[in-house]
Amino acid sequence: MSDPVLQVRGLRVEYATSSGPAQAVEDVSFDLDQGEFLAIVGESGCGKSTLLFAIAQLLTYPANLAGGSVHFEGVDLTTLSAEELRQRRWRDMSVVMQSAMNALNPTLTIGAQLADACRAHTDWDDARIAERSAQVLAMVAIDAVHLRSYPFQLSGGMRQRAMIAMAMLLEPKLVIMDEPTSALDVVAQRSLMKQVETLRQRLGFAVLFVTHDMSVVAHYSDRLAVMYAGEIVEIGPTREIFHQPQHPYSVGLMEAFPSLQGDLRPLTGIAGTPPSLVNPPEGCLFAPRCPHANDECRTVRPALVSYPDRQVRCHLVARSRKP
Ligand code: SF4
Repeated sequence: MSDPVLQVRGLRVEYATSSGPAQAVEDVSFDLDQGEFLAIVGESGCGKSTLLFAIAQLLTYPANLAGGSVHFEGVDLTTLSAEELRQRRWRDMSVVMQSAMNALNPTLTIGAQLADACRAHTDWDDARIAERSAQVLAMVAIDAVHLRSYPFQLSGGMRQRAMIAMAMLLEPKLVIMDEPTSALDVVAQRSLMKQVETLRQRLGFAVLFVTHDMSVVAHYSDRLAVMYAGEIVEIGPTREIFHQPQHPYSVGLMEAFPSLQGDLRPLTGIAGTPPSLVNPPEGCLFAPRCPHANDECRTVRPALVSYPDRQVRCHLVARSRKP
């Protein structure tokens, strides 16, 4: 078995606020294997996008890395200089942002933007750059004629696919995606996800994918990490968690998600709101919303415990399962 491409250990991110530091990401640890697709899911504000930014070392004030390490191919990214990080981005690790319209430069053609990325990281001549640019656009089913198009001349789905083409330019080992389908209709979403999956199978890169919409990743991710209030509360194989979620928050998420198979069932939401991250509750962060909360839950913060098929952060699960 080869070494993981990414090892995240004890990662903590705080936001400076007028009321004091808010714990946006708290003690997050996981490995990502080469070629693996890990989806990070949770409701808005749970810290999933902040976690991706911390891994890619793209945090800016008021967010700050408060602890932990991010080893990418054995090198701790948190110890690298800005220049060392710049050299690794695109070449070894690329990032696809939520909105291509914001990530792409509106004043440059798609071809010029692909060429910029090539020139910053390779010594390719113009012919090689043009050839590679056409190649990566073809990978996402965009005709090379659009190398001359500006972002506003493309549909939302095409812009997002152009971003994925840019991410593929230098064949990175890891592609980090922050809700890349959130602005697309369901048909464009499905088409984009199928293309990402085809490219992953062909090129073998690992994917770290953040979404609040579990239907997007249900069929494509190998593993699922469920985040709540900055913590991972359950992580394991996607199929296992979809079929038998164990953390009460994961159970709530699944019940809020329509199934395409089996009998129709009413969808239920999760009552209540996430806790304050400036003054978080003493015990389990989900206790104020959890139908199973008891005195232990309200006073003792549960640890993420490893079981044969997954890891779960819950006293109730710990009482009924053997690690
Ligand atoms: Fe619910 Fe207690 Fe488990 Fe937290 S530790 S999720 S409050 S049962």
